[in-house]
Amino acid sequence: MKTEPMKVHYLCPNCRSYLRVWNNIIFTVKSAEGKKQGLLLLNPEVGNYTYVSHPSLKFFESEKVEFFCPVCFSNLTAKQINENLVKIIMVDEQLHEFDIYFSKIAGQHATFKIAQDNIIERHGEHSSSYVNYFMSKLRENLGE
Ligand SMILES: [Zn+2]
Repeated sequence: MKTEPMKVHYLCPNCRSYLRVWNNIIFTVKSAEGKKQGLLLLNPEVGNYTYVSHPSLKFFESEKVEFFCPVCFSNLTAKQINENLVKIIMVDEQLHEFDIYFSKIAGQHATFKIAQDNIIERHGEHSSSYVNYFMSKLRENLGE
C-alpha cells in the first residue's frame, strides 16, 4: 500500500502553476548546449535526489542542465542568486510559502529551503559550497 504523499505543493515562480502532479515535480529540461531535452520528474521530498526521466535522456556528471516550467516555459534559473541554482516555490500544509533552490548541475546535491533571508533547511553534500555566497546574495537582494 502506498503511503499518503505529503500535502506539499510546488509552484512555478513565474506563472504559479502547480508543478507537482501526484508524487513528482515535473520540469522540462535541456542541456546547456540545447542538444538534449525532455521531461524530468523530481522527488517532492526536499533533499531527495532521485528522479525519473526517459532512459534516452542522460546527463553526464557535472553537466549544466536548464530547468523550465512545463506550463509557461520560463527558465527557472535563480539568476539573482546563482546561475547554477534553480528556484521554485513550495507551499506547505499550513499554506506557508518558501523558496526552494536546488543545483542544476547534474550529480551536484545542494538544496536550500528559504523563508525571507533565512535558510530553513539545507540538504545535500555539495550545499556547503553555496552557503556563504548564498546568504550574502540574499541579504544584498533584500537590501535593495
Ligand atoms: Zn510557469
